[in-house]
Amino acid sequence: MQVAYWDEQWETKPLEELKELQLKKFKKQLQHIYKNQFYRNRFKETGLEPGDITNWEDIPKVPFTFKSDLRDNYPKGLLSGNWEEVVRIHMTSGTTGAPTILAYTKNDLDVWAECMARNFVAGGLTTSDIVQQAHGLGLFTGGFGFHYGLERVGAKVIPTGAGGTDRQLRLMQEWGTTVFTGTPSYAAYMAEIAIEKGIDPVKDLNLRLGFHGGEPCSDGLRKRINERLGYRAHGGGMRVCYGLTEMGGPMSMDCECECGQHVWADHYLMEIIDPATLDYVNEGEPGELVISNLSFEAMPILRYRTGDRVNVSVEKCECGRTHPRISGFLGRVDDMILVSGTNVFPSQVEYVLLKHASLSENWQLIVEDKRGLHTIKVEIEPATGCVIDQTFVTVLEKELHSHLEIKCGVDIKDGGTLPRFEGKAARVVDRREKG
Ligand SMILES: [Zn+2]
Repeated sequence: MQVAYWDEQWETKPLEELKELQLKKFKKQLQHIYKNQFYRNRFKETGLEPGDITNWEDIPKVPFTFKSDLRDNYPKGLLSGNWEEVVRIHMTSGTTGAPTILAYTKNDLDVWAECMARNFVAGGLTTSDIVQQAHGLGLFTGGFGFHYGLERVGAKVIPTGAGGTDRQLRLMQEWGTTVFTGTPSYAAYMAEIAIEKGIDPVKDLNLRLGFHGGEPCSDGLRKRINERLGYRAHGGGMRVCYGLTEMGGPMSMDCECECGQHVWADHYLMEIIDPATLDYVNEGEPGELVISNLSFEAMPILRYRTGDRVNVSVEKCECGRTHPRISGFLGRVDDMILVSGTNVFPSQVEYVLLKHASLSENWQLIVEDKRGLHTIKVEIEPATGCVIDQTFVTVLEKELHSHLEIKCGVDIKDGGTLPRFEGKAARVVDRREKG
């Protein structure tokens, strides 16, 4: 396989050398954040001083950082760098409390752009590509990280931001756009609108690559996007992006092998723990991702509990890159809903639904309280031109029951009646009384 690198020397450096560097940088970041009152207090609670950390075995002694720490210390409490050097602030919407912020120095933005440039080239981007960048450009970190990475590679970026689907499609035709970025749900919606307008993405559009992130994506949805937007037909594919505000935004992406998202070990340290015992899991076993930012200056977060259940592979990838990969994304603890004592992950629901070609990717999960009994049901539209009968509904209900370990009704809705999403999809509608 012909592989292009953005920075071959770094991307293919032996893992052992990278690990040595990680330890060195981790220790340096500890000294750096110790200047911050919050961290100093937290370390004191455990009797720890930065100098106590000398080798890998010491790292688990360093306290975790939680999302609540970021919220409780809003706005500037977790800043470790010099405020005068901050040039950018991004934050979450804060709809459920204080927002989570991340501040950047010029160097931080540079590291971010560099990581994203590696990601895009690993995914197959070239300077000839014309990119419609439809991740939101605003307070949310996503759009800017994408924009800077794309620009650094030297692709031709059209920063449309999210939304304006008719115009997006028009621009794709007028400019022969080859790359599309945005959430997976928006990519699915784009394909639907194209077909509705009589545009066949395989014949009438020129899209060969999609870089999609910001929300979990099942293999079923990915396969559909690959087919419907013509990525596969045009010799490319959909690359999944992973990242989080607390680590500075989008951070890792599938390479052309599509076997997991490389996480650049010279800038990030991944640890995988059992969330119950907090011990490391055995190599190759799934667990909660704990991540540290080794390079950022303004607000480096160390040992951040992501709440994401993942599989990680440290084997050298076929693409030649040595950096570990998130090879499986098993759900987000935040997205988990508790229904009558059972944990339900929307990603599990989607996994079951999208195995069926007769079902569309437009669905939602309704949680209700029926006289004290909490129930769930799926509302879904059939795929275009498909008719769903009662026998199929019964089979699907059984399948959902066996996967989710809880009864789940299925309600087939008319085409075009369920909500569509231009950003992150809101699949769960919780109608239970709060409190
Ligand atoms: Zn690879």
